[in-house]
Amino acid sequence: MNLKKVFFNNSFKNTSYILKSDLTNESILIDVPEDPSPIIDNISGLDIKLILLTHHHLDHTGGINTLRKHTNAPIAIGKDDSGSEPDDRIAYINPDIEIKNGDTFNFGEEKISSISVPGHTKGSNCFLINKSLFTGDVIFPGRAGRTDSEEQFDLSVNSLKNTLYLLDEDIEFYPGHGKGGETLKDFQNQFKYFLSNSYKKGMHGVVWWVDGYKEEW
Ligand SMILES: [Zn+2]
Repeated sequence: MNLKKVFFNNSFKNTSYILKSDLTNESILIDVPEDPSPIIDNISGLDIKLILLTHHHLDHTGGINTLRKHTNAPIAIGKDDSGSEPDDRIAYINPDIEIKNGDTFNFGEEKISSISVPGHTKGSNCFLINKSLFTGDVIFPGRAGRTDSEEQFDLSVNSLKNTLYLLDEDIEFYPGHGKGGETLKDFQNQFKYFLSNSYKKGMHGVVWWVDGYKEEW
């Protein structure tokens, strides 16, 4: 699998990913922010088989109609983020595929699997291929994705305990903003520390696993 990171020079510092088969031009896109020209500039000659959306927030989906026209590729998003009532943060997405936990998708000789991790949004998914995990806003280096309530954060923590906390530690994760650069071993160590030392009732917003971590984006 050939991986291309597409960094957006917008205020959100979004990062999209283009995954291409080693043997064919078949490719998958992960997340399409508004004004998706940085993606379009990088996909000429590729056969885009599918557009995967990690969740329904506008900064990950705002360019989807442009890309849908440009590529004719089907769009997939978590069932619980499909058809959401739109507002200033949420896009209404009418997908071709509603993703369920464990669904897999093929391109070329490659296979990518979805892992449902509700919390940041109800329908958030991570996507795993070999030793690469695309996390959207589920986790970033040093912290969880933003949550707006205690219930949302507790859901996020419980989801993480049952999913990313249990995966192989040598998997590298690629978040939907910024440059990434950590493995699940980093996350698992930080999260373990957080659970036994800092996790308190009522936490939400931007929650760091360990004090003193520096934001990378
Ligand atoms: Zn988000």
